[in-house]
Amino acid sequence: MDRHNTDTNGFYGEFGGAYVPEILYKTVEDLRKSYLDIIESDDFRREYHALLRDYVGRPSPLYLARRMSQRYGCRLYLKREDLNHTGAHKINNAIGQILLAKRMGKRRIIAETGAGQHGVATATVCALMDMPCRVYMGATDVARQHVNVERMRMLGAEVYPVESGNKTLKDATNEAIRDWCCHPADTFYIIGSTVGPHPYPDLVARLQSVISAEIKEQLMQHEGRDYPDYLMACVGGGSNAAGTIYHYLDDERVSIVLGEAGGMGIDSGKTAATIHCGTLGIIHGARTLVMQTEDGQITEPYSISAGLDYPGIGPLHAHLASCGRATVMAINDDEALKAAFELTRLEGIIPALESAHALAMLPKMAFKPDDVVVLTVSGRGDKDLATYLQYPNGLR
Ligand SMILES: *Cc1c(COP(=O)(O)O)cnc(C)c1O
Repeated sequence: MDRHNTDTNGFYGEFGGAYVPEILYKTVEDLRKSYLDIIESDDFRREYHALLRDYVGRPSPLYLARRMSQRYGCRLYLKREDLNHTGAHKINNAIGQILLAKRMGKRRIIAETGAGQHGVATATVCALMDMPCRVYMGATDVARQHVNVERMRMLGAEVYPVESGNKTLKDATNEAIRDWCCHPADTFYIIGSTVGPHPYPDLVARLQSVISAEIKEQLMQHEGRDYPDYLMACVGGGSNAAGTIYHYLDDERVSIVLGEAGGMGIDSGKTAATIHCGTLGIIHGARTLVMQTEDGQITEPYSISAGLDYPGIGPLHAHLASCGRATVMAINDDEALKAAFELTRLEGIIPALESAHALAMLPKMAFKPDDVVVLTVSGRGDKDLATYLQYPNGLR
């Protein structure tokens, strides 16, 4: 029995479960009963892995970053999810879920998106599979992520601006769930991270686990052993981190270090550091840490990075933090910016702002020269150029 996997009700310790309205009960239950059989079938695995190889471009490289290694006194490998089709790890999950939706006989796809990366990945696979697609996106994000909105529309998706609340990711998710309640029979909801009601966190973690399966093989080739001393990743909802650590969860030789978005600082009131600042609650169908007031009103999160700007956290990650399996750092906006410029100048790789939160943990570590470190670069920085241009002094 692995210690860090979900039980059949979707609990990781005290976190997880499926808290859904009555009207969704049957839909979620159908998914729970069928997802493992489908995604473990030969037919699914064949189609999924062929698309990951020929369409996404997997395996993504494991790159020994020499100049960064020298700076931080270790052997630093970057897992290059930024090189995937559509520019991030999100496509691994979107492909898997649309293949699952087809096998379950669903005819319509909905999704939520914050920065637009998951929306673009979903619109992409819907074009590929000829499925109608509606993406819910907060009106604030529609305005500030205009290029991704145009990409989704060009791909044939309908982008639905959400005007409620703060008009960001949390509100888009509420609206997607509302749509799902109205069309539970024919609609599949492609959730973009390891969040939501069971079985989504487990489903998304399994679909992203290709990342750590590849790390094992690639480390064996590079280092002659299939495990690193440290695994590092950023966490928003937790999917790129879950994929990075999945096959090492029960391997105590491997330290897990996760970076969440501190925003302006965890005591500033402008933060998205849910593991540091959250308390036990229920958000979007799961029992997990939530940033909320004493009477349970969700607090608006803040981060410079739209992909990390979420007031909840995957139940797996809440569990790993609470039992001490993972170390979690809060990385502030300025630290992330500095790290993004540093990677750009030392290695010629412009990372996504989200990924920069993982890189910004490096100066806080105390490595030994022989330590093997694998850090996942979850996405590329093209979408963040406007932000980077606002802070040209990121490199000091
Ligand atoms: C969406 C996104 C994230 C955050 O989501 P997780 O589910 O925590 O991985 C991180 N990096 C990039 C590039 C993203 O697009």
